[in-house]
This record gives sequence, structure tokens and C-alpha cells, in this order.
Amino acid sequence: MAVVLIAEDDEDIALILSRLLTRAGHTVRHAPDGVRALELAEAERPDVVLTDLGMPRMDGLELTRAIREHSELRDIPIVMLSGHLHPGDNAPIAAGVCSVLLKPCPNDKLREVIGDLVDLGPHGHHGADVGCPARWPVSA
Ligand SMILES: [Zn+2]
Repeated sequence: MAVVLIAEDDEDIALILSRLLTRAGHTVRHAPDGVRALELAEAERPDVVLTDLGMPRMDGLELTRAIREHSELRDIPIVMLSGHLHPGDNAPIAAGVCSVLLKPCPNDKLREVIGDLVDLGPHGHHGADVGCPARWPVSA
């Protein structure tokens, strides 16, 4: 069983994601912004982080960079879920995201990507970055 940290400021979406991932057998933690997500990541050491892009205080790109620069968190797989990215936008991958999903994302695709990253486990995102199978664009 894996711990998935959801960083999402929209409570309705967070609830939907939490239910979906809980039903898929994961333990879910939720943070309403990137600052809280980073605190929770330090405390809970999630197996995967699923982050929104637009959030108060610290957005998804800033959260991703903060995790990748964190000595103990930097290898955690990160998935970005957003309705505001355009196919070909390289910013999330450049920041260190493993995979990008565009809202609305089909439930089975979300489960599949999270499951794949749980199976893959921690991996490097540094330098030549040979550890990550970044699959952008992965979209609905
Ligand atoms: Zn990765």
C-alpha cells in the first residue's frame, strides 16, 4: 500500500481524487497548497505526490522544484494534474515532474499513472536524468 500526497486547492477535486485513490488501495494525504504539501511530504514521506499546478502560496511548479532540491525528498515521483497546461509545455518536466495529466483526466488513466509510479518507486531527477520515464504528454 502506498501513500499518495495530493496537493490541490479545490476541495471538490481533492475529495474526488482522494476517493478514487483510496478505492484503488492507496493511503491519501491532502494539502490545500504547496507550502502545506511540502510540510506534509517531510512529515509523511509519501510514495507519490500528485499536485495541481495553480495553488495559493506555492504553486505546483514551485512545489516540484522544492521537492527536487530537498535532500531527503528529491527522489519521490511527482505527477502534475492541471487544466492550464498546453501540450508541448515543457515547464513541468523541466521542474522535475514525472508525468503530466490534463484535467479532466479519466479515472483509469489516473489510477494507471499513479500505480506505475508507485511500482517504479523513488528515482533520480538529476543531471542527465536517466531514472525517469517521463511520459509527457500524457493527457486525457
Ligand atoms: Zn520521475
